[in-house]
Amino acid sequence: MEPNSWARCSICGKTIHYDQIYYACSVSGCNRKSAPHRFCSVDCWDAHVADRNHRNAECVEEQAPAR
Ligand SMILES: [Zn+2]
Ligand SMILES: [Zn+2]
Repeated sequence: MEPNSWARCSICGKTIHYDQIYYACSVSGCNRKSAPHRFCSVDCWDAHVADRNHRNAECVEEQAPAR
């Protein structure tokens, strides 16, 4: 892990840094605290939605915590 990394994209594994905008899935099952899905880009969220066959899912813009 890079020193400044906060999490990893659930799709491509790219690092999500502290204080960075990331994307979450609005489907409640995807936001369990134990294993939340987080995405580095809308494209990765799109891939997740296609993978899970979600209906009516929304992309939620979030900000990683500051260090
Ligand atoms: Zn990604
Ligand atoms: Zn989802």
